[in-house]
Amino acid sequence: MAKAELMDYDKALELFEPVLGFEVHVELNTKTKMFCGCANEFGSGANTNTCPTCLGLPGGLPQVNRQAIESSIRLGLALGCEIAETSRFARKNYFYPDTAKNFQTSQYDEPIAFNGQLTIELESGRQVTVDIERAHMEDDAGKLTHMGGAAGRIQGADYSLVDYNRGGVPLVEIVTQMIEGAEADAPEIGKTYVAAIREIVKALGVSNARMEEGNVRCDANVSLRPRGSNILGTRTETKNVNSLRSVERAVRYEIQRQAALLTAGGTITQETRHWHEDTGVTSAGRPKSDADDYRYFPEPDLVPVAPSRAWVEELRATLPEPPAARRKRLQADWGFVNLEFQDVVNSDLLDVLEATIAAGAPAQAARKWWTGEIARLANAAGVSADSLVTPAQVAALIELITDGTLTDRLARQVLEGVIAGEGTPTEVVASRGLAVVSDDGPLIAAIDEALASQPDVLAKIRDGKVQAAGAVIGAVMKAMRGQADAARVRELVLERAGSAPAESAE
Ligand SMILES: [Zn+2]
Repeated sequence: MAKAELMDYDKALELFEPVLGFEVHVELNTKTKMFCGCANEFGSGANTNTCPTCLGLPGGLPQVNRQAIESSIRLGLALGCEIAETSRFARKNYFYPDTAKNFQTSQYDEPIAFNGQLTIELESGRQVTVDIERAHMEDDAGKLTHMGGAAGRIQGADYSLVDYNRGGVPLVEIVTQMIEGAEADAPEIGKTYVAAIREIVKALGVSNARMEEGNVRCDANVSLRPRGSNILGTRTETKNVNSLRSVERAVRYEIQRQAALLTAGGTITQETRHWHEDTGVTSAGRPKSDADDYRYFPEPDLVPVAPSRAWVEELRATLPEPPAARRKRLQADWGFVNLEFQDVVNSDLLDVLEATIAAGAPAQAARKWWTGEIARLANAAGVSADSLVTPAQVAALIELITDGTLTDRLARQVLEGVIAGEGTPTEVVASRGLAVVSDDGPLIAAIDEALASQPDVLAKIRDGKVQAAGAVIGAVMKAMRGQADAARVRELVLERAGSAPAESAE
């Protein structure tokens, strides 16, 4: 549907109530794959991380990855889920070239974790509790690359390449219950929910959580219910949306598309849809009915997973502070207003800021350097801020400003030296000779010279027009190559002008 044919968003909300559901796939960052010893590694040469088991060759037998079970249980606990006393893998049978075994090893009626909930907070302050139906373990499929066609799509491609490196990588699929009452916040709820999941898996350390590498992928289910009706509408499932902004846009688009279609007397097809980042639209995928029969059956090559209650409690004790609670605590500790704090969070600088402050830097100074000069240099270099300098280096730099060794201007030069690998801030100050001149001797010499060369300014200062001193201060700062404390220079200029040094300097 072309964008012009979409229904206006507010109008769509007047006529319909959106009902949502999300399935988020999280790729675990275990060293090896879910059921074999192949490396779980992004970016290796095609088909180099493969073996008979993950290629589905006859005789290849799976063995479950203990670390993947542990990560799944911790993730389940962090989502407030119950952990199953026994849990079983099942074969989900379907043929597709990226699935070498012709089935996906997943979980069906006995997932590892179920009945959880996650409360998220929207920008307006509205709190929404999302009920989690289940979090189950499964293995990922390989990756198809369609060649010769436009935009890498299968339509019009001449041939396709398949890379099984991702085949068998451990996944946890988190499935929500139906989310009602979202109203106009529906797109933001989608974005915020996925962001919260990403934050949790990152805090747990169970996934690299890089959406751009597909570590966290979201399928968004959207349906519309006419106002006043209690019958659910037909839903669509937009697959593999892999950025937070795209989740928001895809949900909004589906609401507007379905509303236009329904109002015009059309019907919604129950189907998967693809999100197109470039054009901002979804397009039809394959029909999907609730009666799809994958012939699930218990995986005969794997024993049930029966985590002891003692182990589960041991794992519960390793859970980090929930990210939302941590954010609240840090903002209060640091005394940042919402805008300052949001800036830090949005720039992904929470961890480095915390480490910089723990290394002794005052909170506001740490924020100013990380979100200011360092972020600017990182943007220019196209890298992340925390790859340029360490929190300890930034704390040391700020300490040199606080104790008067450096002005802000000199500190920026020191920072460049540190980034260039010239050593610690103190070493760069020494090797580049950048410290503020704290000895009054050279300052007085420079001031006397400046006053002598500007007798008109001197006369004005003596007449009580102290603002005229600015010209002299500027000349002195320039002569000192910025390595002087401007406030001290001003003090000395007024003092020297009063003691009439220019006459003797003739
Ligand atoms: Zn393998």
